[in-house]
Amino acid sequence: MSKENKPSALMATYARFPITVLKGKGTHVWNEKNEMYLDFTSGIATCNLGHVPDQITQKLHQQVDTLWHCSNLYTIPSQTELAKGLVQHSLFDQVFFCNSGAEANEAALKIARKYAKDHGHPERTSVVSFKESFHGRTYATMSVTGQEKVQTGYTPLMPGVRTLAFNELSDLKKIPNGKTAAVLLELVQGEGGVNPAQKEWLHALQDICRTEDILLMVDEVQTGMGRTGTLFAYEQYGIEPDVMTLAKGLGSGFPIGAMLAKTHIAASFTHGTHGTTFGGNPLAATAGIATLQEMVKPGFLREVQQKAAYLQEQLEQVASRSSAIKKVKGLGFLIGIEIDAEAKELVTLLQEQHILTLTAGQGVLRILPPLTVEIEEINEFITKLDHVLQFVEEKKKVSANPS
Ligand code: PLP
Repeated sequence: MSKENKPSALMATYARFPITVLKGKGTHVWNEKNEMYLDFTSGIATCNLGHVPDQITQKLHQQVDTLWHCSNLYTIPSQTELAKGLVQHSLFDQVFFCNSGAEANEAALKIARKYAKDHGHPERTSVVSFKESFHGRTYATMSVTGQEKVQTGYTPLMPGVRTLAFNELSDLKKIPNGKTAAVLLELVQGEGGVNPAQKEWLHALQDICRTEDILLMVDEVQTGMGRTGTLFAYEQYGIEPDVMTLAKGLGSGFPIGAMLAKTHIAASFTHGTHGTTFGGNPLAATAGIATLQEMVKPGFLREVQQKAAYLQEQLEQVASRSSAIKKVKGLGFLIGIEIDAEAKELVTLLQEQHILTLTAGQGVLRILPPLTVEIEEINEFITKLDHVLQFVEEKKKVSANPS
């Protein structure tokens, strides 16, 4: 086949929407025809401060003119500063930086085994995760992901993984089996349908982990960096995880991931036991520092909570008007709308109204506005959602009673 006839130079891993995004600012993006879209996806919970936020842009510009990359063989002051900031604003003591959510979870899975070995339990090589979870696309993180569709075609998976039912109290007793090193979970399952963990279940899980000396590791790649209304979702549950992973919102769109742990666990990552070329390089760390500084400013997260509560209230009202909505769920600005229709169809209809949204499985419309979204933008979204839902209901009526 001649090169001209080949369909694309890109591998076909993504089913892309027919929209080309060329520019972004705040809650909006523009296509090649300069048409504007209201972006309620934030690059899948990544541009939490909106597109091209001024404060971060300025600092990145300065850093671009100073130093882009420096290997982790040398001291990188901005990396140390970001680590200090994350430690100051969380209950963890030390940080390992990488480039993505999957890598952050890889680091967590590795430190769990190492910690068990270092503490006289070489037999503890197993990890427990939960059905419908999503932890990444590398071999280990795909293996702990509780969705078969992610694993199809890639067996054999990493051995020693057990996937239990999420929010199911009776399953918790299966966790200690003499081989379990750690439990890894999302506090609100994002990709798997926007399923928040139940408080009682989570506390029972923490109790088992404490009693059995099993690490409790929270994947806050999607829930972290203000997405749920607090800097980290664990704060709202009143639990004390041993390990936490971050990525997505940490760099406001600049690729960076992090694995945070308490000192006694972090001690298992000694010289040469783990590493990466790019992790926490000066550009990434600068983006991380600027992001964190914005989010911890007095009143910032309070405003996020108020606006998220307003959006949820408005959605409840839409639900009361529309029989197509079964349930509104989620935490803060990580929201799922369970619908009695194909979520994909709704995403397409909203795109026609110049609104970008996501799905989370077949029947859930997922909305992830930037934390900086304005009330007027929320109102615009609600008006257009109402309109699209009316259209879906009309269509349903017509197909039920064709005449
Ligand atoms: N963990 C969670 C909870 C996620 O939502 C994702 C991505 O969607 C990942 C891990 C993987 O992150 P990345 O795509 O940066 O590897």
